[in-house]
Amino acid sequence: MECGIRVLVVGGGVGGLPASIALQQKGIEVEVYEAAPSFREAGAGIWMAPNATKLLDRLGLAEAINDLGRPYRKGVAIVQLDGTVLSATSTDKDLADHGFHTIAIQRTLLHQLLLNQVKRATTGKRFVGYELGKQGVTVRFEDGTDATGDVLVGADGLRSAVRGQLLGDLPLRYSGQTCWRFLSTANKTSMPGPYDMTEMWGNAGGLRVGSGLVSDDLAYTFITAKAPMGGLMDPGTVKSELHQLCRHFPAATLDLIDRTPDDAFLRNDLLDIAPLQKWHGDRVVLLGDAAHATLPNLGQGACQAVESAYSLAAQLGRVQSATDSNVTAAFEDYENERRRKAHRVTKMSWQIGQLSNIERAERPAGYATSVSG
Ligand SMILES: Cc1cc2nc3c(=O)[nH]c(=O)nc-3n(C[C@H](O)[C@H](O)[C@H](O)COP(=O)(O)OP(=O)(O)OC[C@H]3O[C@@H](n4cnc5c(N)ncnc54)[C@H](O)[C@@H]3O)c2cc1C
Repeated sequence: MECGIRVLVVGGGVGGLPASIALQQKGIEVEVYEAAPSFREAGAGIWMAPNATKLLDRLGLAEAINDLGRPYRKGVAIVQLDGTVLSATSTDKDLADHGFHTIAIQRTLLHQLLLNQVKRATTGKRFVGYELGKQGVTVRFEDGTDATGDVLVGADGLRSAVRGQLLGDLPLRYSGQTCWRFLSTANKTSMPGPYDMTEMWGNAGGLRVGSGLVSDDLAYTFITAKAPMGGLMDPGTVKSELHQLCRHFPAATLDLIDRTPDDAFLRNDLLDIAPLQKWHGDRVVLLGDAAHATLPNLGQGACQAVESAYSLAAQLGRVQSATDSNVTAAFEDYENERRRKAHRVTKMSWQIGQLSNIERAERPAGYATSVSG
């Protein structure tokens, strides 16, 4: 049964899709508009931490994610190349706090699973602007079409065009690091490190390698390194470049690089936005990276997007009629519920990135404790 509010979600990523599912489950009419010509999620793998899996479970999805991915029962650790543990998660604490382990999963599988639950989603709809009117909010797309609803949710990522209109051009912050990601054939015995996911910090500032299985025969790895912003990747030389960077890492790490097809590497500069004091305006609200982009150093960007999706749906679910004041009150409650934690994640993630940028010999005493936060 639908409850009379119509929500337009711009962006069909790992924030917009859970938001749509949660809104649907509240009986709210919702339509997703995605700019890409087809729904496709790049990004190799992803680690969904228990705070997000718990909420995906309430949406009825955790079991499927668990089946498609790999629950981490031994835990996740950050270590130095000599094996010193800088931080390690407690799987017992995860279970006690949330009832779930971290789950590693291929991004494409997670995205398809989410998409399968969404009733109305259209691709090829690039948002270019919105107007407020008596009817609520009208969204315009690059192809000349438009759509009108009571609420616009901007879930269009780090470079959000919805945020651009709402809050103006805001600078992105470059962490100083770029990141390669890839999936390679592997199994339990071929993984570097004894944990489910081991992140190794090199001696050079910015150099980190994290690897973990996403299934019985596939590993997801990321490699970060200090680099000027905007560097390009050449599939013909990427493996030799990564070999050179990782020459002091275990042979198992180099094997993972070798087992990856040349054209299967992704490269992204790591950027975030400094915490924003406001995520909404009249009838328009931001969610996920559009609102609280964070560096991946805590593996929490998508998890925070899921937390925001769940919270926003809960608040909009309480709106009886879509008057301006009811909608604004729901946005304010959502922001009050989410802002503090999302900002804490952004700040900690930024600090860890800056710490990792320091050469090992110059890192401050006790930095291991800072890494574990
Ligand atoms: C290297 C790396 C590793 C990461 N690892 C993890 C991890 O392990 N765990 C974790 O929780 N997080 C991780 N993250 C963070 C996570 O990827 C992001 O926080 C998450 O993808 C944000 O989801 P989103 O839906 O807000 O944005 P996005 O995933 O960016 O989705 C935005 C969507 O909006 C669409 N869009 C953009 N502009 C428009 C427009 N004008 N009109 C219509 N549609 C538009 C895009 O095509 C896209 O589909 C990682 C990030 C990086 C860079």
